[in-house]
Amino acid sequence: MRLADIFRDHSQQRFSIEIFPPQTEKGEESLLNALTRLTEFGPGFVSCTYGAGGSTQQKTLEWCEKIQNVLQQTATAHFTCVGSSREELVDWLNQAAGRGVQNIMALRGDPPRGETEFKAAEGGLRYANELVELIREHSPNAGIGVAGYPEKHLEAPSMADDLDNLKRKVDAGADVIVTQMFYNNEHFFRFQEACQARQISIPVVPGIMPITNFQRIQRITAMCGSEIPEGLASRLEAVQDDEAAQFEIGVEFAIQQCRELLEAGVPGIHFYVLNKSQACEQILEELNFQTAT
Ligand SMILES: Cc1cc2nc3c(=O)[nH]c(=O)nc-3n(C[C@H](O)[C@H](O)[C@H](O)COP(=O)(O)OP(=O)(O)OC[C@H]3O[C@@H](n4cnc5c(N)ncnc54)[C@H](O)[C@@H]3O)c2cc1C
Repeated sequence: MRLADIFRDHSQQRFSIEIFPPQTEKGEESLLNALTRLTEFGPGFVSCTYGAGGSTQQKTLEWCEKIQNVLQQTATAHFTCVGSSREELVDWLNQAAGRGVQNIMALRGDPPRGETEFKAAEGGLRYANELVELIREHSPNAGIGVAGYPEKHLEAPSMADDLDNLKRKVDAGADVIVTQMFYNNEHFFRFQEACQARQISIPVVPGIMPITNFQRIQRITAMCGSEIPEGLASRLEAVQDDEAAQFEIGVEFAIQQCRELLEAGVPGIHFYVLNKSQACEQILEELNFQTAT
């Protein structure tokens, strides 16, 4: 199913899961187990990331095939401009189509480790809106997701600039916006309003990463500029030597956060599950997502 169709029925709020291709055989086995459990809840789609620097090009497609053929779920392949010329990007798109992948999350990607500024590859693309255009040109029927930033992309000079650039991606043909993770719903609600004010009318799906380990989440949020509210941070700090307690606080917080978002009528929730199922399972159970079809 294509992304636009997944979100077409406004009466149903869908959830989706994001995984990354594991590096080891053990990791692959453990991910397959986690996915088997999570897909019982009926996700709208399962997406697989495209490694930094384009390092998992083939693995991303292999996992999308597994998601489709082994788990019988709709797959979305993440795809970035990093390190590829236009011809190489088109070649990958042809491979994705050949493997039956109908949905692409079109991203610019981050600068390679050690570099602070993104540079287009020779003969490549500079921004995600150009990638959306390229996909529309070569795979006109593909479902296309793009990234949105409720707390602004770190490189953008202002929120207004960032939203103008988001609009470029939408005008180029994106079907859905999936947001960067955030822990303060006020950022999301403001972002949603700002999108509406710019006549962005495609679904805006909040991205949620349940906290299971405070140290790890601090590293991740520092890299992407997401704020951890002070109240939550201090509760987690108080149990910094107790991972089980951090897990419990993180899951309870995510349940409340998702509940508020769902009550406000979001089209769905995208879970960054970091290849584990336990936290997300508990959240989905609490939110009664098992009734989704
Ligand atoms: C849901 C989601 C999934 C992700 N998956 C992956 C993944 O699988 N692999 C990976 O490597 N990374 C992934 N990322 C991270 C992403 O690659 C980075 O956040 C990256 O820095 C920006 O990507 P983008 O697609 O938002 O870029 P863009 O939309 O191109 O924006 C990048 C910056 O340039 C500015 N900009 C955009 N267009 C223009 C323009 N035309 N003129 C001037 N300025 C412009 C924007 O305001 C922004 O500051 C993901 C992020 C999200 C939110």
